[in-house]
Amino acid sequence: MNAVLQDGFGRQIDYLRLSVTDRCDFRCVYCMAKNMTFLPRQQVLTLEELQRLARLFVGQGVRKIRLTGGEPLIRPGILGLCRDIAALPGLRELVMTSNGSQLGRLAGPLAEAGVKRMNISLDSLDAQKFRAITRNGDLEHVLGGIEAARNAGFERVKLNCVVMKGRNFDEVPALVQYAIDQRIDISFIEEMPLGDVGRSRGEAFCSSEEVRALIAKSHPLLDSTENSGGPARYVRLEQHPETRIGFISPNSHNFCGSCNRVRMTVEGKLLLCLGQDDALDLRQLLRRYPLDDQPVISAVQKALRGKPLRHDFTPDTEVQIVRFMNMSGG
Ligand code: SAM
Ligand code: SF4
Repeated sequence: MNAVLQDGFGRQIDYLRLSVTDRCDFRCVYCMAKNMTFLPRQQVLTLEELQRLARLFVGQGVRKIRLTGGEPLIRPGILGLCRDIAALPGLRELVMTSNGSQLGRLAGPLAEAGVKRMNISLDSLDAQKFRAITRNGDLEHVLGGIEAARNAGFERVKLNCVVMKGRNFDEVPALVQYAIDQRIDISFIEEMPLGDVGRSRGEAFCSSEEVRALIAKSHPLLDSTENSGGPARYVRLEQHPETRIGFISPNSHNFCGSCNRVRMTVEGKLLLCLGQDDALDLRQLLRRYPLDDQPVISAVQKALRGKPLRHDFTPDTEVQIVRFMNMSGG
């Protein structure tokens, strides 16, 4: 019989989001504080440990792994790691979330290494606003990266956009048009209260309903029951069948009932829920039992029985979880 990871509520866990670094070349205002300190090297999982964890989880029934961070493409050795994970027997797909800054040079090699789908963050099409949101990102680089990803042979390229009032809400129609022109999907995400980023999140909060109403002014929308294995709800554009619009609404539309995933931080903490503090320190176990997988597997199975039912984000709350998104593996 195939192994299956199950939580205490009977949800099957077949999706692992694996953070390969907490570092990033951007400092997005919703994700990080202006001055961040990053983990000392000895606290970060080695490439071998990351690969071992991926193998253990796939052996326990995980079918999809998303590499994330921080910015996964600034981790030295990322291509070899992708190759090793993609080759694991039983894994259905290796996918990645990136800010796009390195994709101009890495999109082709990543597709060759076995990465199937690529999600790219894009919050603005205005170079100045883009820089203001990312604090130091270069829009042209990212647009070049998206172009390279479209030509690299991934099965799907998708855009992610965190919408904030006063920053990029007014750009939603232009971002939709860009996705239509590129014939790719775009998801709009509600900002989550993770970490103290030095500003009030409530003021900029923008619900998926508001984003949807804005898009509907220029495009007739068709509801869809499609699911890509993540938390997004999709609509289709009547006149542009090649582009789907996703809404990820952690605050206004709880999606925990069908949660099929866990996250691994780059220090080896297994986060059972993005919106709760429950975690299991696997780095310690990996290092204590370098040649014996069973203690690690047993600890994961036991911890999963305590996976929380749901997160408690609400639109009007400020910071609830102290850890930043780059530490959580977004
Ligand atoms: N650096 C990569 C990137 O930006 O795509 C991958 C890591 S990033 C943490 C993953 C995703 O989390 C991005 O799409 C980002 O927009 C999103 N994100 C970061 N902080 C967030 C927050 N506080 N609320 C909602 N989404 C957030
Ligand atoms: Fe970096 Fe991604 Fe966080 Fe932006 S959202 S600071 S690109 S990890």
